[in-house]
Amino acid sequence: MEKQELIENAAKCALNFLEGYSSADNIFYSYVDNKIYAYQAFKALAELTLADLNTGKSVEECRYDAMRIAGKIQKEWDKEDKEKIMKVVKGYMKTLIDRISDHTDSFIEIAGKNNLLVIPTVKKSGTDGGSGNRNLYYIDYENVETQENIDKNNLLGDVNKDDLPKNYVNYFVEHIKLPRITNWIYNYEFSGFRFSIEIMAFILVWVITAIFGIYIINMVFYGKFSISDFPIIGMYFFTALFFKRKWDCLRKRVISINPPLTANPRFTFTQLECVATDEIRESTGNPIRRIQLVSYWATCPICKNTLQRNVRIDVENGGREFHHRLIGRCSESPTEHVYSFDRVTRIGKPLR
Ligand SMILES: [Zn+2]
Repeated sequence: MEKQELIENAAKCALNFLEGYSSADNIFYSYVDNKIYAYQAFKALAELTLADLNTGKSVEECRYDAMRIAGKIQKEWDKEDKEKIMKVVKGYMKTLIDRISDHTDSFIEIAGKNNLLVIPTVKKSGTDGGSGNRNLYYIDYENVETQENIDKNNLLGDVNKDDLPKNYVNYFVEHIKLPRITNWIYNYEFSGFRFSIEIMAFILVWVITAIFGIYIINMVFYGKFSISDFPIIGMYFFTALFFKRKWDCLRKRVISINPPLTANPRFTFTQLECVATDEIRESTGNPIRRIQLVSYWATCPICKNTLQRNVRIDVENGGREFHHRLIGRCSESPTEHVYSFDRVTRIGKPLR
């Protein structure tokens, strides 16, 4: 395949993704600007690239500066202040380039379905600052093993993903980048030294919990509570809860982890997932697993029909009604637009 065709496919993959994407929403955290406009900039890049390739321009010519991208972003710009526009768009592009790999799984699925062979990336050329120097942004591609992905997509049990029954939803996963300080809690491979340490920690915590339980019962029923006991009890509960969540994650493969206090404030709803890697642990024959913080999402079909826009479905605990289950709730009608959630098929059935 020619490079031009690959770039074209990458741009198509981007547009296909953006057509269905509804970004995360956090009511406590205002991130609107970069969130919306970074994706509009992505759309602008993909559309400009496709249009220019169609008119016979070369791949090298499909590079665009901030002003060109700004022209396609739906925002009131002060046309006189070019400096400012360039600075703002540069911010959006930085967000976009930073964020784009979070969507790799979605891109791969879309590429597999449409036989595109590649997924999009966004790159920047040129240098910062200095007069006459300007940054140019462009769509590039990465190859994916399409056949493998088509096979993976076909393993969906009795539901055909290309032709979902009415009001079924298709989940995608969004990876969440973490600051280095919390990476070791939420994002690591559960193997080797780390594996041994954690298993030992589980056993230790379990033993301490048993001893501590007796201690607390004694204190409550026979001893006297004093203020100085609270930090110890607090620390105990905190540690116990921490390990309980880890244990739940290993056992249930995916748990809801809200609010993710030490994670990324961009998301209100996140899940801790324990995924199988391609490596096999020799001693057991089971796959080595990875713990990672993700945010599953889908677009609500009811809202899409009614409101004509993409409304995100977030995954959270089912509460009393759907006990011990994770479910998908639409962010416009969280109590009525409710869907099941399955991390393996990534398909949700309407529950109402
Ligand atoms: Zn809805």
